[in-house]
Amino acid sequence: MINLKTDEEIEILRENNLLVSKTLAEVGKHIKPGITTLELDKIAEAFIRDNGAKPGFLGYNGFPNTLCMSVNSVVVHGIPSDYRLQEGDIVSVDCGTLMKGFYGDSAYTFAVGKISAEAENLLKITKESLYKGIEQINSNARIGDISNAIQTHAENNGYSVVRELIGHGIGHDMHEKPDVPNYGRKGNGTKLQSGMVICIEPMINLGRREVYVEDDGWTVRTCDNKYSAHFELAVAIRDKGKADILSTFKFIEELLD
Ligand code: MG
Ligand code: MG
Repeated sequence: MINLKTDEEIEILRENNLLVSKTLAEVGKHIKPGITTLELDKIAEAFIRDNGAKPGFLGYNGFPNTLCMSVNSVVVHGIPSDYRLQEGDIVSVDCGTLMKGFYGDSAYTFAVGKISAEAENLLKITKESLYKGIEQINSNARIGDISNAIQTHAENNGYSVVRELIGHGIGHDMHEKPDVPNYGRKGNGTKLQSGMVICIEPMINLGRREVYVEDDGWTVRTCDNKYSAHFELAVAIRDKGKADILSTFKFIEELLD
């Protein structure tokens, strides 16, 4: 069952997702060779609490931290640690908030210093695939149209799409219906409706699509140990099938310019 949101609820979801967007930018300011992923986690936690919210991931299904910090071949759900970021790493930062009974959830993959052309292109195409998915949203669209646009863009560029983890609805729960896979067929799946709020989050691998979960029970890594990237935005479907993007990368992009 899909929980459609009222206009008021969408504004609370926007507040949450804007705070996530600002938190990602705050973390991005500090992403440099030498900083540990746990230090970045503490910066995010303080920023979220200073802004009147709770970290959405902390304690969620037992997750131990505020951020998922996924370096290089880690796809998602990396646990912050004393690992020091190195020049040339890519690090996916996934962040959630909980405020006024609703969640925020977005992610961005950052370059640490100068990265290889190969990694740079993976980030570019993964981010583009997210926007290609969002562009599919209209009054007649189905989830499969979003899924297919993401998959097509990634695969046309020689990359592969992770199957085991997917996007989702968001609201009072972080993960609600509908499922939003990053692969699929046009015209398939749930029809979009005004009041749906979904997180679209392509996880795209440089090499093969297979992944495994490490012994910590969280860290999802590519089987071939090649890079993986992840970008996520929360989007509300409004009247006439208009996409209203609730989170934004603009705070990050201002910083990186
Ligand atoms: Mg998500
Ligand atoms: Mg996320």
